[in-house]
This record gives sequence, C-alpha cells and structure tokens, in this order.
Amino acid sequence: MKTVSNIKVLRNYLAEERLQNKHIGFVPTMGALHEGHLSLVKRCLEENDVCVVSIFVNPTQFNDKNDLEAYPRTPEADADLLEAAGCHYLFVPSVEEMYPEPDTRVFDFGNIGRVMEGAHRPGHFNGVAQIVSKLFDAVEARRAYFGEKDFQQIAVVREMARQLGYATEIVACPILREADGLAMSSRNRRLDSKQRRKAPLIAKILKESLRLVPQMSVQEVKDFVIDTLNNEPLLCVEYFEIVDGQTLMPVNHWDQTASPTGCIAVFCGQVRLIDNIMYT
Ligand code: AMP
Repeated sequence: MKTVSNIKVLRNYLAEERLQNKHIGFVPTMGALHEGHLSLVKRCLEENDVCVVSIFVNPTQFNDKNDLEAYPRTPEADADLLEAAGCHYLFVPSVEEMYPEPDTRVFDFGNIGRVMEGAHRPGHFNGVAQIVSKLFDAVEARRAYFGEKDFQQIAVVREMARQLGYATEIVACPILREADGLAMSSRNRRLDSKQRRKAPLIAKILKESLRLVPQMSVQEVKDFVIDTLNNEPLLCVEYFEIVDGQTLMPVNHWDQTASPTGCIAVFCGQVRLIDNIMYT
C-alpha cells in the first residue's frame, strides 16, 4: 500500500494505473476505521482493480467545532487495517492540501439537502459536497463506495454527481452492525460504558417498529419510535422522519411510496448517533 498526502502525486500514480486499463475504486472516509468501513473496502476490491481509500476529517462539514475537535483519530491503526485489507493507495491529505484557499462554492440539492441532517446540521451537506467533489476530481474513480448508514449523504452525493456531471458510479453498501445491533460508527468510541449499553436500543426500536407497520399509521409509528427512545433517560431523539427513499420527501401514508425509510438522529449523552431502517 502506498500512502500519499499530495494530490498531484496521487493523480500521477492513478494516471499510470489507468494507462494499464485498471479500473479504480474509491472509498472516502474520515478515519477511525471499523468493520463498516472495511466492508466498503472489501466491496471496492472485489469490483475494481485498484482500491483508493482517503482519510480526511473534513472541517467544512462540521457545523459544531467541538464535534470536529472530539472526532476520533487513529491514523496508525487505520493504516494497519487498510494494509491488511489489501488497499492499494491510502490518501491522507492535510487541510491545506484540500483547501489551499477557502472553498466558497454553495450547492443546492433541493429537498434532499434541506431535510433531516440538512435541517439539523446547517452547512453540513455543503461541506460534504465540497470535499467529495474535490476528492472525486483527484481520484477520477470508476466507482465510489458509500455506506447506507449515512442514508441521506448517499442521496446528496448522487445529486451532486448528477449536477456536476461526474462519471463516477455511486455504489451504496449495507449498514454493518455490532452484535447487539448498534450501527457501527467511529463516534461509538466516544460512548462511555453506560451509554454504550443503552445505544443499541435505537436499532432495537427501529426493528420493532417494522413489525408495527401493518397495524399502525405512519404518524403512530413515528410516535412509537420517538416516545419509546425518549423514555430512556440517556437518549434524546433529535429527529425521526419517515421519508421516500429516493426523494426524501416526508411520507404521510404507507402506500404513498415504494420505499418508505425511517431516518433517525439520537443524542446519547453528547454523542450524536444516526441510523435508519427501510420499511419494505
Ligand atoms: P465516515 O468515516 O463516517 O465518513 O464514513 C465513511 C464511509 O463509511 C461512509 O460512506 C459511511 O456511510 C460508511 N460507513 C460508516 N459506518 C458504516 C457502517 N456501520 N456500515 C456501512 N458503512 C458505514
């Protein structure tokens, strides 16, 4: 595995690979890697000749300075995991390398960017689009891999790729979970032992809500999820929405869409966790 921190150097290596007709797959991450990230790397290696993984904690997508500072960073362990997984290029740019000058671009993704995470984390998706477009320009991958844990992010990245005309195919990969159901996340490392024991309730209640669909309205299912989780003193629901899986427009009746999807953000102490479930 080659570790590269400079865009030009990376582009030169990848141009060489392309000359040999190699297909390049790309997995963008913010590091503190876990099995969820590695499942994307594995899929990338299966479907491409060359796998590029980036690790960059992107400041422009953090609306909360404390969250950026507290974001876990484990660079040595990450490099070891990627090497063992068979990754070919690890791209670890500095903030100066990605933002030699402030990025003033403003994106508009319509409803997809405005609801849920867009509403509660102002500027978040604009920052995501800034960094993902810069990374897509650097890597020029045939395919890029994203996890469905960040369900709305995939919709935003697809819309960004459409608006900017990227040829890179966006591949959505299933959520990897801990044995107790908690969606794997770099942020789980920030949970203390008491919080860690309570956090799996989020996935448990989402799963339970799936069974209620035949007998409950959309609003009743929403109330069940929100009220049950808020009843647990360590958890505080920021939002739970049931939306169309493509447009992310709110769903009022189950038969309104073929892909009703429940998306949730919950504070577990200071740690903000997200998860989602498809009601199909
Ligand atoms: P992050 O490092 O949190 O920015 O995540 C990098 C990529 O890994 C994103 O596409 C995430 O959706 C994906 N990812 C994070 N957690 C999981 C998980 N538990 N299962 C599958 N993919 C994940």
